[in-house]
Amino acid sequence: MKTLSKLHAKPGIWMTDAPHPECGHNDVIIKIRKTAICGTDMHIYQWDDWAQNTIPVPMTVGHEFVGEIVEIGPEVTGFKIGDRVSGEGHITCGHCRNCRAGRRHLCRSTQGVGVNRSGAFAEYLVIPGSNAFKIPDTISDDLAAIFDPFGNAVHTALSFDLIGEDVLITGAGPIGAMAAAIAKHVGARNVVITDVNDFRLDLAKKMGATRTVNVSRESLTDVMADLGMHEGFDVGLEMSGNDMAFRSMLTSMNHGGKIAMLGIPGKDTLIDWNQVIFKGLVIKGIYGREMYETWYKMVAMLQSGLDISPIITHHFSVTDFQQGFDIMGSGKSGKVILDWN
Ligand code: NAD
Ligand code: ZN
Repeated sequence: MKTLSKLHAKPGIWMTDAPHPECGHNDVIIKIRKTAICGTDMHIYQWDDWAQNTIPVPMTVGHEFVGEIVEIGPEVTGFKIGDRVSGEGHITCGHCRNCRAGRRHLCRSTQGVGVNRSGAFAEYLVIPGSNAFKIPDTISDDLAAIFDPFGNAVHTALSFDLIGEDVLITGAGPIGAMAAAIAKHVGARNVVITDVNDFRLDLAKKMGATRTVNVSRESLTDVMADLGMHEGFDVGLEMSGNDMAFRSMLTSMNHGGKIAMLGIPGKDTLIDWNQVIFKGLVIKGIYGREMYETWYKMVAMLQSGLDISPIITHHFSVTDFQQGFDIMGSGKSGKVILDWN
């Protein structure tokens, strides 16, 4: 079968042939229809330090997908051939304390599809049946293909009560922009989003942010004064992984503010801990999606009118994958879909 794989320990990704996966007793095989390119795939593509230390070569990449079930292991229940599914790319151990308590997103032994095991940029993907997630007919293939990053946005945004709250999102990448839409949908008051990229800030505006701030030109403090926000933000969603953005979030929070951190900060990030202590801030780290409450909420919010469709800005046939990676790398895109049909 055709795959997009990391074949060499250097920048790039290559189309190649790989054997058809085998279906274990607890697995399903999914014929991939569409995939989306994630920031993680870009790290692997660019072969940065993280990728060099994490990704064995060769490796079939990719974990954002929608497809249909074509084979079902004998122990799997709840699915039938032809079911349209996306799936959770974190494969958890099932044995640790958290897994056994139903807190699978906190598993100590998580394996990543397309990171630690063969991924979704392939004609066929094998995952445990318990990781597949059925998609209702009302949800398009395009949206189903981005449930993984949409789930990051939902998990982060719904970590704290947002109703009537003033929310600061740092980083208007695809996940930050989707978080802006979610925050508005669930009833936040001001949803202010920062970035240094105007294309992405415009996209976040389309997604429902009430105010965008290009921090390379504008001061967040001025914007807060403009909005009459004299006390600070109630909730912060850190979605840039940028040290400066995180530090400015800390200084912009109200006392008792709550921060959910999805962005992965640099290893030696320094912050002013006085901001955390004397403001009594609550900071929660976010990894992946809750299994499967986040998935349930994603479907429910789309069905209750949440519109995240503007975040998909580009479509390519998988044979034109290079264009897809180039546009992702340019910063002038939201989500990029590759069509496998
Ligand atoms: P992305 O890289 O596309 O977006 C990050 C955005 O932050 C970019 O638009 C960038 O221009 C912006 N930025 C850079 N400097 C900034 C600054 N000083 N102030 C404000 N914004 C700034 O990433 P994404 O795919 O949207 O993901 C968001 C973050 O979440 C990334 O850091 C990613 O690595 C991380 N992530 C974490 C998890 C997890 O499970 N914890 C999962 C997925 C992604
Ligand atoms: Zn576990």
